Amino acid sequence: MKDRFGRTIDYLRVSVTDRCSLRCLYCMPPEGAEMTAHGEILSFEEILRVCAAAAELGVRKFKVTGGEPLVRRGIVPFVRALKRVAGVGNVTLTTNGVTLGDFLDELLDAGVDAVNVSLDTLNEAVFRRVTRSDNFEKALRSVYAARNTLLALKLNCVPVRGINEDDIVPLAELARERGTAVRFIELMPLGLGAKLSPVPREEIFDRLQRAFGVLTPSEERLGNGPAEYYSVAGFTGKIGFISALSHNFCGRCNRLRLTGTGLLKPCLSSDAGVDIKAVLRKGGDEAAVKRAVRAAVMLKPARHDFSANNGKHETKNMFRIGG
Ligand code: SAM
Ligand code: SF4
Repeated sequence: MKDRFGRTIDYLRVSVTDRCSLRCLYCMPPEGAEMTAHGEILSFEEILRVCAAAAELGVRKFKVTGGEPLVRRGIVPFVRALKRVAGVGNVTLTTNGVTLGDFLDELLDAGVDAVNVSLDTLNEAVFRRVTRSDNFEKALRSVYAARNTLLALKLNCVPVRGINEDDIVPLAELARERGTAVRFIELMPLGLGAKLSPVPREEIFDRLQRAFGVLTPSEERLGNGPAEYYSVAGFTGKIGFISALSHNFCGRCNRLRLTGTGLLKPCLSSDAGVDIKAVLRKGGDEAAVKRAVRAAVMLKPARHDFSANNGKHETKNMFRIGG
């Protein structure tokens, strides 16, 4: 499917819940958030209908996200069912890792193609500060367990000024072995993220070059996203950067987002979207669901505008969107 600017849209991020086991300081208030009533969240059957419509329109790659996707009951059968939808190719999942260890075998058996784990630190005290939880050991055990499987694994870190700058080099060290990609994601000014400061990509780059020597740009594309990758001598995994604000990649945007409450979001920076839950629950048939997906694609702007002052600026925290 092409959008109005000729970009091919073949990737859908699917948020299955806004509940989460952590309270990351850039994403979720410390006291937690008011949880959306179950009835307002799309059922797995409804999500599968949206995915099937998207697949018919040419979407091939699906990312299961949240909140924390592994806290939703029935997540593994959902992944299995999604893999079986006609036209669906790649199904990946992003998780905070806390219970990933418990699900690894089942997820592999269900056919998941890759897993991203969000991990901002290898230091227990910093983990507690970032996530406001005591789950450090559990998350870390999951990461090491996942590294020991055949699963393609990427680690995502959001460097935040004054919080985890000193974790950048130790985390990157995990790319040395087992082909694990380690990516640094620029903090986005959404919700709580707007109150914190990102660590500039150039500073991250300098820290890494001082520790490991030259980072060489890599042509390789790993997965479906906008990360720019670098190789490091002696490392089997790549180092990636996803810097939506400072190094805009809207020209290569290939995605739509489906929130847990059934909004199809054309762009992360705007709260505009197509209410596909309304279409589903008013008895819309497959053609109507496809029209809604197409409409969301046609609403995609040429580029994001996080400074937009048009009343459309996205103010939700990321746990309600899916990242
Ligand atoms: N709970 C899962 C996890 O943490 O991977 C999936 C959902 S989480 C919202 C998806 C991604 O969004 C995580 O990698 C997280 O670090 C990132 N994220 C959340 N808030 C962010 C923000 N303000 N700026 C940049 N990334 C953010
Ligand atoms: Fe939960 Fe992921 Fe948000 Fe952290 S980033 S609070 S793990 S949804």
